[in-house]
Amino acid sequence: MAERKINIAVAGAGLMGRLLAWRLSEKGHQVTLFESGSLEKPAGACHAAAGMISPLSELFHCPLPIYQLGMQSLQYWPYWAKQLEQATGTKVDYREKGSILIAHPQDRSELLQFQQELNAKLGSDNRDQLQWLDNNALRDLEPELDRFDQGLYLASEADIDNRKLLPALLKALKQYEIEIRENTPVDCGSETIQTENGNEYFDLVIDTRGLGAKNQINGLRGVRGEVMVVETPEVQLNRPVRLLHPRYQLYAVPRANNQTVIGATEIESEDRSPISLRSTMELSSALYSIHPAFAEARVIETRVNCRPATMDNLPVVESEPGLIRINGLFRHGYLLAPALVAQAESEISKFIQTTEQVT
Ligand SMILES: Cc1cc2nc3c(=O)[nH]c(=O)nc-3n(C[C@H](O)[C@H](O)[C@H](O)COP(=O)(O)OP(=O)(O)OC[C@H]3O[C@@H](n4cnc5c(N)ncnc54)[C@H](O)[C@@H]3O)c2cc1C
Repeated sequence: MAERKINIAVAGAGLMGRLLAWRLSEKGHQVTLFESGSLEKPAGACHAAAGMISPLSELFHCPLPIYQLGMQSLQYWPYWAKQLEQATGTKVDYREKGSILIAHPQDRSELLQFQQELNAKLGSDNRDQLQWLDNNALRDLEPELDRFDQGLYLASEADIDNRKLLPALLKALKQYEIEIRENTPVDCGSETIQTENGNEYFDLVIDTRGLGAKNQINGLRGVRGEVMVVETPEVQLNRPVRLLHPRYQLYAVPRANNQTVIGATEIESEDRSPISLRSTMELSSALYSIHPAFAEARVIETRVNCRPATMDNLPVVESEPGLIRINGLFRHGYLLAPALVAQAESEISKFIQTTEQVT
């Protein structure tokens, strides 16, 4: 039997809010989306991000559930990206070319440590997910990395251009003619959205306000992240590349038009002021050490925002009657969002069944 359609409010049109509103509209629910800022230039972390979908790279620093949810998300992303592109005629540049880890010869131990740690965490069944690259194999995949004689290839990783995805989601939402209210800061309660003009009532409220829900999620904090976008035709990478270094970790994510997103700092602070000189220097010099031609790249943008993180850096999907809160996506929003949408959909189904039994 088809599931009953309900009237749902989604608070926060960042990554999680947009993706969820789109999927719920697809299922036929009536969705209203509230956003405190502008929809064209979202104020949330989603706009600053690099868009990497890297379950294996993240596993080095994170517990197993992040990897498991990330692998689940990788099942959804290709279909959703295709569906969005077809529906909106907008490219989102979802790329399934894996990612590469490199280290300078003197830092070879960093690569070995990464490999050992992942093998330990993944167990013997999954060891083929990491491929050691010698000089030739590395050059076959990334000819420009000819200064490096070894690397690791994580073939299952992917990435998406978030600066294309977010507007595409908005376009898809508009096609459903859902009600979208920007410049409308809200508070969330059970079945209730509170705006400065009073309360509005729904069958269900879903709170995806990221750091905007700080007072409602125990221990939620912001973790500052800074990235730079540089442009040069001189260096052509084919996929995200991570430089492992004892002090300066760097990723370089190639984008269209000879642009590369490089990042990211991770600072325990909720300061969203512009990028610091120190971060600029550290990111730039780490990039330059990958390929000297980056020296002439033009810095076309710097981005700063705060990742919404819980005390254990794991995401939360909390349900109470008439209210679901999804938060704490931390540095893994693009990695985790589809898997969390699936969790939310299952909570919504339970909610619908419970309310059917009551009525
Ligand atoms: C520099 C940087 C790089 C990153 N790189 C990656 C990456 O490569 N891969 C990856 O997976 N993740 C990455 N992330 C993390 C990712 O961006 C976040 O995990 C993700 O954006 C969180 O999504 P969200 O929707 O929960 O929150 P947000 O994206 O922060 O969105 C929350 C939305 O709620 C709105 N809002 C807030 N308060 C209210 C209110 N009161 N009423 C209405 N609306 C409200 C905000 O304006 C915002 O639009 C990165 C983050 C940063 C900062």
